[in-house]
Amino acid sequence: MHSKTIKQLSADLHRGSFSSVELTQCYLDRIDRNQKLNAFITVDPEVSLTQARAADELLKKSDGTLLTGIPLAHKDIFCTEGMLTTCGSKMLHNFIAPYSATLIENCQQAGMVCLGKTNMDEFAMGSSNETSYYGPVKNPWNEKMVPGGSSGGSAAAVSARLAPAGTGTDTGGSIRQPAALCGITGLKPTYGRVSRYGMVAFASSLDQAGTLTQTAEDAALLMNVIAGFDTKDSTSVDEPVPDYLHGLSNDLDGLRVGLPKQFFDDGLHSDVAKIVAEALKLFEKQGATLIDIDLPNSDLCVPCYYVIAPSEASSNLSRFDGVRYGHRSESYQDLVDMYMKTRAEGFGVEVKRRIMIGTYALSAGYYDAYYLKAQKLRRLITQDFDQAFEQVDVIMGPTTPTPAFELGAKTEDPIAMYLNDIYTISVNLSGLPGISIPAGFAQGLPVGLQIIGPYFTEGKLLNIAHRFQMETDWHKKIPRGFD
Ligand code: GLN
Repeated sequence: MHSKTIKQLSADLHRGSFSSVELTQCYLDRIDRNQKLNAFITVDPEVSLTQARAADELLKKSDGTLLTGIPLAHKDIFCTEGMLTTCGSKMLHNFIAPYSATLIENCQQAGMVCLGKTNMDEFAMGSSNETSYYGPVKNPWNEKMVPGGSSGGSAAAVSARLAPAGTGTDTGGSIRQPAALCGITGLKPTYGRVSRYGMVAFASSLDQAGTLTQTAEDAALLMNVIAGFDTKDSTSVDEPVPDYLHGLSNDLDGLRVGLPKQFFDDGLHSDVAKIVAEALKLFEKQGATLIDIDLPNSDLCVPCYYVIAPSEASSNLSRFDGVRYGHRSESYQDLVDMYMKTRAEGFGVEVKRRIMIGTYALSAGYYDAYYLKAQKLRRLITQDFDQAFEQVDVIMGPTTPTPAFELGAKTEDPIAMYLNDIYTISVNLSGLPGISIPAGFAQGLPVGLQIIGPYFTEGKLLNIAHRFQMETDWHKKIPRGFD
């Protein structure tokens, strides 16, 4: 049963082919047997099985939703009442949230079972899952390789079928990039579409929660549960939520697909380029027209992001001071010494680097030169997309410049690491939705195709992804040893 999609499992549960307790136990066993992947930080079988038993009661009374009894792995960035929420950091190694994130509550209300909390880059800062205090996650396709980050635990868990689906967050690519490197489907919704309440903040104007699933159809099922306005999140948007399952199979005749020349330049690995070209041919066969477009400010995305994201992070992370929650240094002389030792001990190298860059960019005298400048660039980058969407319905290209790279290959070179997100970051800066779907393999490693749409076109993106998955079976491939 572990190789099935949510859609299939839901039908089986409602038919009574097996119970949610049996299903949950099956995944718990797989998680236990595959600890070498390091995909999970916290697993609490008692909590999971209690939720599964409750789901079974509902299913017996035919009271369940489509997702009742379906197990789900949550990125350890979502506060979960009564359970550890570490955000991949020593700073929160002992933090048990007194309340649950809205996303977690929505999943619970739909009757879903929490399978555990997945490993991630510390405070979601990273592209390889190597900044986690709990150690790196391994890519199930090749355990010497990174799974991508920062939602690498969820991506590896779904790829290795340790969970039917997972949740993640995407600030600069952290859902789409690990989805691409692990061969699964990752949806980053429009900024404000899914509540950020109870999601540990990294860069508040960029962070957005989304899904990591086997298929676009499963992403639609999950979006029906997690999308929507939340009075507890002032940046969530009060826009009606469509039924994302509706129109999934619509034909693509007449679809105008924009190909930004900047997404296909020298930095793109030739194998990835070939696979993307093949995928584009398939869309042409389905009636789409390919149109070359220009996103002239693309080369500014990475520098712009690496001013704005660290600036917001330096402010957000000031709350971790040893007073309110989380780690506190054991020996200190006075209050200031306590703050300093706590933060020196609690944060890892990458987080400290971001706090320093952000504090610098926001400080008097530098604010205009860096932060304000970056905000202006952000506007230009967004305008590029606005103009492009006057010409085309969606934009397609690679999700990442290369397939997964080796663990340790880029840890000493932050700039090389940052460049992994070159095709994903502009989407966050503009607040747009984007999806990565499996499109092929290069040297045995998965490659993702990225599809970007105008605001609130998640339904359209899922439709396009679903049509692709009706014609291909890349999304059905399971890494050797996990099938
Ligand atoms: N890799 C990017 C960073 O390190 C994006 C991370 C994310 O999307 N959370 O900031």
